[in-house]
Amino acid sequence: MSDSGKGWEKRAAGAISRRAFLAGLAAAGVITACSGGGSSNSTSDDSTGRGTEAPEPRPAPELGGDPFALGVASGDPLADSVILWTRLSVDPLEPTGGIPDEEVDLVWEVGTDESFDEVVATGVATATPASGHSVHVDVQGLDADTWYSYRFKVGDATSPVAKTRTMPAADAEPDQLMFAFASCQSWGDGYYTAWRYLAEDPLDLVVHLGDYMYENGEEDGEVRQAPVGEALDLPTYRQMYALYKSDPDLQAAHASFPFVFTWDDHEVDNDYAGDQQEDADPVEEFLERRAAAYQAWYENQPVRIDPPEGPDLEIYQTFDFGTLARFYLLDSRQNRDDQPCAPAGGPSQGTECGDELDDARTILGPEQEAWLDERFAETEAQWNVLGSSVMVTPLPFTQGAPRAFNFDQWDGFVAARKRLVDSIVENEVANPVVICGDVHWSQVSAIAEDPEQPDGPLLITELIGTSISSAPSESQATAIDAILANIPNVEWSNAAQRGYVRVTVTPEDMVAEYRLLATALEPDSDLEGGTTWRIESGTAGAVEVA
Ligand code: FE
Ligand code: CA
Repeated sequence: MSDSGKGWEKRAAGAISRRAFLAGLAAAGVITACSGGGSSNSTSDDSTGRGTEAPEPRPAPELGGDPFALGVASGDPLADSVILWTRLSVDPLEPTGGIPDEEVDLVWEVGTDESFDEVVATGVATATPASGHSVHVDVQGLDADTWYSYRFKVGDATSPVAKTRTMPAADAEPDQLMFAFASCQSWGDGYYTAWRYLAEDPLDLVVHLGDYMYENGEEDGEVRQAPVGEALDLPTYRQMYALYKSDPDLQAAHASFPFVFTWDDHEVDNDYAGDQQEDADPVEEFLERRAAAYQAWYENQPVRIDPPEGPDLEIYQTFDFGTLARFYLLDSRQNRDDQPCAPAGGPSQGTECGDELDDARTILGPEQEAWLDERFAETEAQWNVLGSSVMVTPLPFTQGAPRAFNFDQWDGFVAARKRLVDSIVENEVANPVVICGDVHWSQVSAIAEDPEQPDGPLLITELIGTSISSAPSESQATAIDAILANIPNVEWSNAAQRGYVRVTVTPEDMVAEYRLLATALEPDSDLEGGTTWRIESGTAGAVEVA
């Protein structure tokens, strides 16, 4: 299909060449799927990868339980393709998932609906021990803008049936997109009820903005005990992801929509910055840990990417929903400089010291910055949505000099933020909106053309989407809202409630519904006290409508 690759645009030459490589193999009838580092059996009967002959997996070993304990998921959808994922496990708390140390073949099927009366693509993918028994199936040759059902089979076991969809063609002009964004789902801090509500929404897509998993293990006084220690190496990162993935509400959300991702710090280590670890461990040692964390991230998410080799993994990408919206999923962790104005290993909150202004400082890294500038130069999307794991809005906690900031946010990278807004202005990027997580509160704010001059003309709207479960204490939440009430261009905040944001995009406006739980401290909370904000096309800043 000629649209392949036009939806997602990755800078990674590796990713592009891999796609071309796979397309070549598919055309040659060699494969229908990439199996995440394992071997693939031939099942394709035509050049588009839409093989529908019954595939022949090798006999499965005795697995001794439901091997789909982590659910199934889909992600990184294109107009003609989507990644299907699962990771075999019969025992999520076992680092190996209780799966024998050998290759296991799975059959995957894509149908027009949940009956699977019409199977449009099927194949065999191999789960290998080296990939944590995960599979990433790149299903090709699908129709644009179309819903499908999918499932996996291994031995006598069949996975839950899940739904996914392809994206509109690159030149399509959709009149609506509904997506949700979410972040920060500390297991110990609360229940995933927000995912249960999200799974029932009529969404096209879910954007996860990071802190999908928290590396710190069991702590005192938590609502849900995480019966595992701190994740420090590949077995323990795998174990932590498996714990998180075992949640039925999270599984329901994944089974309902394709996801796209960026990550934040906790996927590796709290407040890490590039090769700098929170506690200032030796760089070599930390990079080994980062390599394990990135490997586990890859194994556990439905991402269109090569398996990592070593501590580097390029994940930033753009994604177009026809001409209506372009998403920019930014990596603000891997290539950033250390937080300024604070001793290494110290808290990222501090008072301004001048270092934060240094022109040489970067949060995205020079390559990603140049890539973003190129993407801005070519975008013709009506809405340009930047997924940033950390906040862009300037947020001085105190008004007298010297002011206090959280230097883990873009406030620690003042010159880089100026380069971002300059690029948006120079390239006349239409309707720039940042969506963001990390801070565990809801916020609607805006960023001025000169971010340091908040009274000047506004340029970017920022929507911050609280957290699925991660939470400040009640007294902290009250204090946070009191501080935010005095910050220029912060229209609204709510630190007390957890939840997610549901966004409806049309050519005329973007409407953001804050879907908030009464509490995430109990398993079956109602939604309560949400609020809705509207951004009119051509304006920066949102207005409350309900
Ligand atoms: Fe978080
Ligand atoms: Ca974070």
